[in-house]
Amino acid sequence: MHILRVISPAWLILVLDSCNGINGFGYSKKEQHLWPQKYDVCAGKLQSPVAISTSKAIALPLPALEMVGYHDFLPTPQILMNNGKTVKLTTDKTAIHGRLPYIFGAILQRNQQYEMEELHFHWGIKNNRGAEHVLNGVRYPMEMHIVHRNMAYSNFSHALRHEDGVVVVATLFQLQDEDNELVRSLISELPDVQWAHTKLSVNISLALAFLIPSNTDIFYTYKGSLTTPPCSEVVTWIIFAVPVPLSFRQVNTFRKLSNGEEILGDNFRLLQDIGQRKIYIRRLDPSLWTKDIKRDDSRLKFANLSWFWS
Ligand SMILES: [Zn+2]
Repeated sequence: MHILRVISPAWLILVLDSCNGINGFGYSKKEQHLWPQKYDVCAGKLQSPVAISTSKAIALPLPALEMVGYHDFLPTPQILMNNGKTVKLTTDKTAIHGRLPYIFGAILQRNQQYEMEELHFHWGIKNNRGAEHVLNGVRYPMEMHIVHRNMAYSNFSHALRHEDGVVVVATLFQLQDEDNELVRSLISELPDVQWAHTKLSVNISLALAFLIPSNTDIFYTYKGSLTTPPCSEVVTWIIFAVPVPLSFRQVNTFRKLSNGEEILGDNFRLLQDIGQRKIYIRRLDPSLWTKDIKRDDSRLKFANLSWFWS
């Protein structure tokens, strides 16, 4: 009993998290097929990721995605964490100075705002894989997710219980020779969380705008889920069409992280069936709108979104 008293709660969390207990899941094909045994929603009909095809997506002149605070440095301190499944950056809500970035617009319901919760990455051990969404048959080497919580819900677990609870803004990365200077500040911190289940308080000079393309006019959107257990079907996905460059060296820095046993990587979920869902693409040029949609079409009144998801 005496020993238990001196163990800090943080230490206990580390141990529980690392022994593949109730939150444990793996990324091998075999392990992914086991996800529904513990989390039946993972076998649901609105799962992510999916394959996206530009020619099959329904083109609409959707409102822009409004990103407030995306050009400001994230409030500090932040928490950088290697949880053995990904590397994640969150803000310390109890200590931050300044407002968190939030989004609205696009296909989101009027009056609804979504605040940044965290961001994390999915990457491959080899360059021919890593991203979760496949775009026009291409699987990029990395994908980043900025997870946002509907501010109508007080916390993330509350948001996970509502179908309009979460928006994930996704960026795809493609390789180039030169470093992307904008992400240098973040990537230079990665060696400090090399080991699985390490958590660090950091002060990174990073704006979310550094992690998304400069052209955010074109994006894909569809209704889906978290791509990790519990696979909650509460996510409106917004995926930018233009990838962001990253150097080989920079991607390799992610591949030096450990998952506790081996290299952390290939942490992407298998493609899920799109089923009856539709994927929309934002297009401003009327000549690119899907053919049966005219300027006076009632479906262009985005205030009534029910048809979007039908
Ligand atoms: Zn993710």
